Amino acid sequence: LRILVDMKALFFCFYLLLLGMGLPSCTETNAQAPPFQPNVEQQAILNRIENYLVKDSILYDQLSWDENGISIYPDSLAKVEDKPEVSLPWKAARPFVDHVAQMSASEALDFYLAGQFENLVQVGGLPDDILSLSDDLPLQGVRIALDPGHVGGTMELAYLEKKFIRIRKGNRPEIHKAIAFNEGNLALGTALLLRDSLEKLGAQVLLTRSKEGHTAFDMSYEAWLESETQQAEARLGLSWADLDGKTADGYPLRWRNGAAANYIFQQELVGTDSLWWMTEATMRDIYRIPFLKADFKQRASEINAFHPDLTLILHYNIWEKNTWSAGQYLNAVDDNYCMAFIPGSFMAGELGKPETRMAFLQKALSDDIPESERLSAEVVKGFEKHLGIPAIPYDTSLRYLRAASLPTPAKGVFARNLSLTRMVNGPICFGEALYQDNLEECLRLQQKQLRLKGMRTQLPNRLKDVVNAYVEGVLQFIQK
Ligand SMILES: [Zn+2]
Repeated sequence: LRILVDMKALFFCFYLLLLGMGLPSCTETNAQAPPFQPNVEQQAILNRIENYLVKDSILYDQLSWDENGISIYPDSLAKVEDKPEVSLPWKAARPFVDHVAQMSASEALDFYLAGQFENLVQVGGLPDDILSLSDDLPLQGVRIALDPGHVGGTMELAYLEKKFIRIRKGNRPEIHKAIAFNEGNLALGTALLLRDSLEKLGAQVLLTRSKEGHTAFDMSYEAWLESETQQAEARLGLSWADLDGKTADGYPLRWRNGAAANYIFQQELVGTDSLWWMTEATMRDIYRIPFLKADFKQRASEINAFHPDLTLILHYNIWEKNTWSAGQYLNAVDDNYCMAFIPGSFMAGELGKPETRMAFLQKALSDDIPESERLSAEVVKGFEKHLGIPAIPYDTSLRYLRAASLPTPAKGVFARNLSLTRMVNGPICFGEALYQDNLEECLRLQQKQLRLKGMRTQLPNRLKDVVNAYVEGVLQFIQK
């Protein structure tokens, strides 16, 4: 595929060379046409594309706009050949965004690919009068989706997710006993506490998962594997019941086969790709690709069907350069920063599928980006105030900021093309409240002070500070 893309790029260069030689006369007509003068609304869209959405300028090979509207192309060759996937008239921009927000992901994709936008009219916007802004219930009628990151549950599952903290006793003199906890459980505890606080202020709250160790499918990862396996067996008319043996990481081969077979079927994989999934894939591979793809899709579809006024994606960070020792231990570190991510920062290759191109257009044409920036700026201020942790500057020594993110004018807020920042509609804050491997934080976070309904694991009081930060961020966002 990469070779094909490179060849297309080469063709494109050739074509430009020919144009440069003054071959087609259309370039002369273009030269005489008055340059496109965008109005205020169009300029805002173009600014979002330039400042928030395009990380690698090669993506401009798949975009064009003029006085009629904006077009997006499957690849650079399609642009040269003037074969857009979709051309959207400017006047259809807002109606398009509103229409697709009312649809499921697959309906939205069909509607986008059908390209019938001429007769789109504005649907009535969301009723704004639901916000009563009373002092007692300042969030009365506000719909808020909370997405606690990862799955958590047992430490074994957290190892599979690679979302856990283990630090040896004596790693630093302050650490008097071994530390072990996982991010999925911290995130779930935060969501449960935050739901209570927001509901007391009048909000309607959705959680994408609410029980310890449960995925977005409201079942454990193991139960998800079992259901995938039964589906695959039924579809293929066979049974792996007698299959003994385990994957390299200790899971029944039957589950690997089931999840792999469904993934091969959905993705229409053939040849060595499909063979690899059935014979070589470890459970970590199954988790990382088929499971996470399905889980993110499920989270996004639940959130979008709820039509929230805002969405908080709850995560906890670690210092990117911390290294895992043999035996899977981290070092306690001195750095500790908060930050938040919003939609944008599409990198080279990330406009490769119709659904990502549609998402790019949705983010360009809607207010999702400015509203997410405004929400996230308030949440980061809340983190700084309630956690006493500084917002991270645009630190280019961190790969995920340098290579994958774009800084915004808001302190500690970065555009980044994560599955959920891309797929969720409306204002979103993907919060990374603190570094779990910071020396003081890991000592706080291993405390077992809170017992929450739906959770076996007891959690630290520190989560209450994080909840207060989010609540204040949400209140500031709504009130302003
Ligand atoms: Zn996370």
